[in-house]
Amino acid sequence: MDQLAPKHRLPDQPKEFGYFVDGLWKSREDRFERASPGHGVAVSRTVRCTLDDLNDAVSAARRAFENGFWADISGAERAGVLLRTAEIIKRRREEVAYWEVLENGKPISQALGEIEHCIACFETGAGAARALHGDSFNNLGKDLFGMVLREPIGVVGLITPWNFPFLILCERVPFILASGCTLVVKPSEVTSVTTLLLAEILEEAGLPRGAYNVVTGSGRTIGQAMTEHHDIDMISFTGSTAVGRACVHAAADSNFKKLGLELGGKNPIIVFADADLDSAADAAAFGISFNTGQCCVSSSRLIVEVKVANEFEKLLAAKMQKIVVGDPLDPTTQVGAITTEAQNKTILDYIEKGKSAGAKVLVGGAKFDHEGGQYIQPTLFTGVTRDMAIATDEIFGPVLSSFTFETADEAVQIANDTVYGLAASLWTSDVSKALSVTRRVRAGRFWVNTIMAGGPEMPLGGFKQSGWGREAGVYGVEEYTQIKSVHVDLAKRQPWIS
Ligand code: NAD
Repeated sequence: MDQLAPKHRLPDQPKEFGYFVDGLWKSREDRFERASPGHGVAVSRTVRCTLDDLNDAVSAARRAFENGFWADISGAERAGVLLRTAEIIKRRREEVAYWEVLENGKPISQALGEIEHCIACFETGAGAARALHGDSFNNLGKDLFGMVLREPIGVVGLITPWNFPFLILCERVPFILASGCTLVVKPSEVTSVTTLLLAEILEEAGLPRGAYNVVTGSGRTIGQAMTEHHDIDMISFTGSTAVGRACVHAAADSNFKKLGLELGGKNPIIVFADADLDSAADAAAFGISFNTGQCCVSSSRLIVEVKVANEFEKLLAAKMQKIVVGDPLDPTTQVGAITTEAQNKTILDYIEKGKSAGAKVLVGGAKFDHEGGQYIQPTLFTGVTRDMAIATDEIFGPVLSSFTFETADEAVQIANDTVYGLAASLWTSDVSKALSVTRRVRAGRFWVNTIMAGGPEMPLGGFKQSGWGREAGVYGVEEYTQIKSVHVDLAKRQPWIS
């Protein structure tokens, strides 16, 4: 810790934050205290909001939607606010990254990289605000003309998880705002600070009051009440498949609000023998270790062609051994801490399940304690069979299970042998094979000879139990609109009653 710049030291005492409704900062005594998962030191205290606070926030978002100060201004004006937001995030990038590290445990270098992506999200949202448009039908006959208007859906409730608190927020907020909607956000109770910082940033950028509200609180009370709320028109939920299912029930039992669901994954990385094996191994090591594997698109199932499987696993194990795990505030760290104690236990339990089911640990397979934080070495299991828990379940940790295949058909079959369909990566030097396999694997995001690449122009979302709808880019903005068909008679009406 001594080598770190002062701004990267731990706070002397936990910092208190309010919550943000109708352009005002508010406070309550009842609070969550968050300890840094990398150091075990208390860093923040955020408010445990009540259902009344949520109702105030929804009313503020409704008023801000209805008064038209946001929904009725031009796309160009909305784009101006989003571009100013991008500039302010640039100015405050170190501070935002610091809080991501303190509350989530991710390495500072990674957090800073994520913020570059967040800036790009606001810039892309600005472009989308100007580009958003409807359609027209000139083929309805000489006298009838049709227009399709895109209108903002209204008040959006945004519920986010703890693994990418600021990045997931920024992959949604600019696109929700670009559409003309207003919103109420509930971040994860363990990583709320950067969602609150965005309130300050949007206010400075000129967003009208009430358009962005943050209610901090638990999922069981505030999150559940949002999904049941009769005055929220749409929920964008990112989190576990189990809670996603609860959102569907709550929407059905309340006002049939629209749902965008970004849920779990058990994502394959398929490596053919003709691939650049060194690059593929590097990508596989990155794909399972990035964000300590607490990433919905982590490539947690390695599916490698049998004739190179031994060679590839050795190459991969050697690379994984070299990954620098440790203090997330150290700029040289590649893999930081596990974000919550519960998640730490879940991952360690899965490692034990893998061992007792007969899978063999090639690298990692254990926790280590460092500076009062919770850490797990990236782990590679071989000899995994498809019925084992480590093969089927989303572990949400740095645990990779290796399988082999003989034919492309078999690779596709193993890749699709999951209830999820979020993402996949494929490595081969044969273009025809790459495209043929890409077309047959059921996943919402695909990477050929790369992994976790892309920008906010590209839509994200899952097939199967990985979710509904798409976020980001023009596709993402369209999710927050509804379309109205307008029919215009250009001639005099033919009387029905003579
Ligand atoms: P989680 O489902 O426990 O919580 C996510 C959010 O929902 C939190 O804000 C939480 O407070 C809230 N919540 C909890 N119970 C709720 C309820 N009954 N009603 C409404 N809201 C409720 O998930 P998590 O543990 O924070 O995150 C890990 C999970 O998120 C993993 O399964 C992961 O795959 C998934 N995830 C998916 C994506 C994606 O884009 N597909 C991205 C990140 C994380």
